[in-house]
Amino acid sequence: MNALRYHADEGLLLEDIPAPAPGPGEVLLEVRAVGVCRTDIEIVEGSHPFYVNGGPEQPLVPGHEWSGVVRELGAGVFGPPVGTLVTGETGIGCGACDLCRIGQHNACPHRVETGIFGRDGAMRELHVHPAALTYPCTRLSPEEAALVEPASVGVYAAQRAGVRPGDRVIVLGGGSIGQMALQAARAFGATEVMLATRSPEKLALAAQLGADATFDAGAQDFVAAVMEHTSGDGVHVVIEASGSNQSLRDAVSLARPLARIVILGVFEQPWVQEIGPLVANEYTILPTVGSPGVWPLTISLMERGRIQAGPLISGRFPIADYRWAFETVARGGPTTIKCLLLPRPA
Ligand SMILES: [Zn+2]
Ligand SMILES: [Zn+2]
Repeated sequence: MNALRYHADEGLLLEDIPAPAPGPGEVLLEVRAVGVCRTDIEIVEGSHPFYVNGGPEQPLVPGHEWSGVVRELGAGVFGPPVGTLVTGETGIGCGACDLCRIGQHNACPHRVETGIFGRDGAMRELHVHPAALTYPCTRLSPEEAALVEPASVGVYAAQRAGVRPGDRVIVLGGGSIGQMALQAARAFGATEVMLATRSPEKLALAAQLGADATFDAGAQDFVAAVMEHTSGDGVHVVIEASGSNQSLRDAVSLARPLARIVILGVFEQPWVQEIGPLVANEYTILPTVGSPGVWPLTISLMERGRIQAGPLISGRFPIADYRWAFETVARGGPTTIKCLLLPRPA
């Protein structure tokens, strides 16, 4: 079968390798669509935190945002039935430690992450995944189902922040995670949802997806504009999804006392921030990694159109055009939100 594999010495190659077989507790899937994420670019460029000191010891198949159709069940697996469209969770814990036992396998010290480290991802024709972390999404299209992963990150952010009616929420960052977090905050009942980013195209997308107000995060008077919009009050919840230090400073400037600040962005720089205002305002700072426990909820919100993935899809590439797909995502730009690889178009 065709597979993209990242090699420490040769980089990313399209190869013909043996198909995997499902082990006990696993399902074998025909992959339908895979998102190309900034994380995949960082892995291939060697800038991902796990790979700054060199590539993986074994070649790694990337791909953690995927959908596929069940083809075969491994030993001890009773579902989902063959033919079902499913997606699957990225972080896979040991199942035995105290964190796994309370469902926080995202923090398991022994975990692997599908397509990121320790376990092959879905940029291949056939993929194997633990049945227990595989979720049917029969009412979604294969392309939408591949974007349950980024949507679940937005839902986990809204859940971590306890978004509820009465809340004014602002999302900082207009990439796919930011657009998903915006929709999740709205689905959780926030009274007002806002999004700020520098790209007019991404602000327009946010408005299309239900933002009550949008702001140019690059404008001189950005913070003042949000404060004026909120009658000087600020916001109850900030969801930081851009990964820039300036954005974190803005988050603190926009937060009203007792605000919850969720940090989704990945930061390479240290956070330089006066602690005084955090203490004086009793802010709750909520860094997040992964999205445990919210996959069925995310799928149900997507099935009912409360979270839309379709408008985020900006490019589709057959797997043979993977270099073009990765270059497009690496280059970024205002109209690149989410690119999909299609290993075997239906
Ligand atoms: Zn991703
Ligand atoms: Zn564990």
